[in-house]
Amino acid sequence: MSKGNWRDSTKNHVTPNELADLQKYDKKAEDLFPLLVPSFLKKNINFNNPNDPILLQVLPQKSESEENTDFSDDPVGDMDASPIKGVIHKYHGRVLLIASGLCAVNCRYCFRRNFPYAKNYASGNNWSNAIEYIKENTDITEVILSGGDPLMLSTNALSKLTDKLAQIKHIKTLRIHTRIPIVSPERITNNFIQWLNKIPLKKVMVLHCNHANELSSDLHEVLKKIANTNTVLLNQSVLLKDVNDDAHVLSDLSHKLFDFGVLPYYLNQLDKAKGTHHFGIPNSTAKSLHKKLLQLLPGYLVPKLVEEISGKMNKSPLF
Ligand SMILES: *Cc1c(COP(=O)(O)O)cnc(C)c1O
Ligand code: SF4
Repeated sequence: MSKGNWRDSTKNHVTPNELADLQKYDKKAEDLFPLLVPSFLKKNINFNNPNDPILLQVLPQKSESEENTDFSDDPVGDMDASPIKGVIHKYHGRVLLIASGLCAVNCRYCFRRNFPYAKNYASGNNWSNAIEYIKENTDITEVILSGGDPLMLSTNALSKLTDKLAQIKHIKTLRIHTRIPIVSPERITNNFIQWLNKIPLKKVMVLHCNHANELSSDLHEVLKKIANTNTVLLNQSVLLKDVNDDAHVLSDLSHKLFDFGVLPYYLNQLDKAKGTHHFGIPNSTAKSLHKKLLQLLPGYLVPKLVEEISGKMNKSPLF
C-alpha cells in the first residue's frame, strides 16, 4: 500500500467531467451533495458499465431531486435523540458519538446528506460535554464512534478521546463505525494500529461494504492488521436497488467478507432520507431476499435484516 499522507487519498479523485457522459449523471444533484470518491475506491469502478455497483453508490442522479413525500430530512429521529451536541443516545447501554461530520466518500443513499452533521459533531469543547454526559449515565457500557466517519479524525485526536473514555469505569467496549478501511485503506497507518492495540477496552469495528467488488485483494492485509489488534470485525450493508438487491450478490458479499475475516452483522433497509428514494426496495422484496439468503448461506454468514424506526428502542428486525 502506498505511503504518504492518507488525507490526500481521501480527496475527491473522480471529477464531474469524468461522469458527464454518463446518461444518469446530474449536475444539479451534484450541487446539492457533492461528488466524493477516494482513489482506492475509484480503482474498483468500471466506468464503462453504467450499472457498475460501486458507481451507482456515488453517482449524482436526477432522481435525487424528485419529490417523494415518504422521504424526509431526519427519517431516523436522530435530532430528537440528541441530548447534547454530538451525542445520540437512543438505545440501552450504548451511546453514539458523532466524532466527525466528514467522510472519505459521499454515498448517495446516506441519510447524513440532509442531516446538519457539519454543525452537530462533537469536537474540542464538545468532547468534554460528551464525556461528562457519559460519566453521569452509568448504565452506558459501550461508546460507538460514528459520524460522518470517525477515522477522518487524526489518530492523535482519537487517542485523546479514547484515553478519556478508558478512564470511565462503566465503559467496557469501544465500537467504531467506519467505511474508511474499505474505501480508503491508506488511513490504516502503523500509528493507527498502535493506537488500536493500546486501547484497554473491548473493541469492535463495524465496517460498511455493500458489494463484493468493494473488497479488492489488497484489503486482505489491511483487515488482518486490524483483526490482529483483537478488534472484532463486523460489516453492515444497506440494501440498495440495482446494487445489491439480489440474493447471489449478497451471498457473494458474505462469503468474501468471511474470507477477509469479517462477519456480516446488519443488512439495513434504506433510511428514508430525502433524495434517496431511487435506492428503495419494498419491505416484502427485502424479506423474500433475506429468506433466500437463509437458504444459501450458513447461519453465521446471514446478516440480520433490520430497519430503523424513529422512536423505537432498537433496530427493528424485518421478518
Ligand atoms: C444503530 C445504532 C446503535 C447501535 O445499535 P446496535 O443494534 O447495538 O448495533 C446505537 N445508537 C444509535 C443511535 C444507532 O443508530
Ligand atoms: S456516513 Fe457512511 S454511508 Fe454516509 S456518506 Fe459517510 S461513509 Fe457513506
